[in-house]
Amino acid sequence: MEERDAQAAGRIRSAATARHLGLDLGGTRLKWAVLERGADTWRQLDSGSEPTRLDGGAAGLVAQLVACAREAALRWPEIASAGIGVPGVYDGVAGTIRFTPNIPVDWAGTVVADPVAAALDAPARLINDARAFMLAELRLGAARGALNAIGLTLGTGVGGGLAIDGRLYFGHDGTAGEIGHQTIDPDGPFCHCGNRGCLEAYTRADQIALACGTPDVETAVRRAREGDQRARAGLQQVGRYLGIGIASMITVLTPDVIVLGGGVANAGDLLLNPLRDELRQRVRTTALDRVELVVAELGYWAGAIGAALYGAECTLRPAPVGEGVP
Ligand SMILES: [Zn+2]
Repeated sequence: MEERDAQAAGRIRSAATARHLGLDLGGTRLKWAVLERGADTWRQLDSGSEPTRLDGGAAGLVAQLVACAREAALRWPEIASAGIGVPGVYDGVAGTIRFTPNIPVDWAGTVVADPVAAALDAPARLINDARAFMLAELRLGAARGALNAIGLTLGTGVGGGLAIDGRLYFGHDGTAGEIGHQTIDPDGPFCHCGNRGCLEAYTRADQIALACGTPDVETAVRRAREGDQRARAGLQQVGRYLGIGIASMITVLTPDVIVLGGGVANAGDLLLNPLRDELRQRVRTTALDRVELVVAELGYWAGAIGAALYGAECTLRPAPVGEGVP
C-alpha cells in the first residue's frame, strides 16, 4: 500500500512539474538545456556546452551524448524525456543518424536515441536542429502565439522549419522545412546538398563573408554598421536572395510570422530592408501587412530548448505523422 501511495505521489509530482532535457549536437559544440514545465509555463533550469568530440568517431559521439544526459540526470533527477537535435537527416523511428554534412564523422546508421533513453530511463527522440530552433521560437520565442510560421536560421548552413496550425510540420520523412535548399537560381553555384543555385549557396555564413569582403559574418555586420560600403552591398545582396526565397514561402504558405535567426540577423534593417523590398515586389497574392518579419529571440540556446520541447511534446501526444520514416 505504501509503495502504491509513493507511486501515486510520484505521478502527481510529475504531472505538476516535469523536467525535460534538450541536447543540441553541433559540428563544434554540444549544447544542452534542462527545462521544467509548470502548469502553463516553462522554466529553463540549467544549460551548458562543451566541444563536440569528433576524434572518437561514431562511438565517441554517442558516448558524449550519453555522458551529457547522465550528468544532467544527476543534477536534475526525474527527467521525463529528452530531445536530441542533430544537424542533418535522421530516421526518427529507428532513432538513427542518416546524414550530417557538418559533422566530419562517418556515423550513418548509428543508433543515437536508444542509448540516451537508456541513460535517462526516459524516452528520447531525434529532431533536426533547425526544426528544434523553429519549435523553440514558436513556443517560447519570437513566434509565440503564431499558428503558421516559417523559421530560417543562418549559420554554416541555412536551416529552416515550418509550423502549420500551431504544430511543427515534418512532412512524410521529417525533412519538411528545408527552406535553404529551394532553388533560387537554376544555373547558380553548386550547393552542399548536390543541387545548384539553392538559397543556402548564397546565404550561408562563408558566402555572406565573401559577399561582404570580410573574414566572417560577425565582422561583416560590424563593418556594415560602421558604414563600410562593400559590407553594406554584401548584406544588401544577401537580403535580396533571402527575400526571393521567403517571398515564395509566403506565397505558398501565407504564414503569420517569419523568424530569422543566426548571427547575420543582428544586422537589423541593413539586411531586413532589402529583404522587405524583395517581398513587396514578389508577393502578389496575399496581404504582406498580415505577415510579421521578426528576429529570433532565444539565440544561442534555441536549439537545445527546442529539442527539450520536442521531447516533451512527444511524451504528451503521438509522434507527428511521418516525422521519421526512412
Ligand atoms: Zn542545397
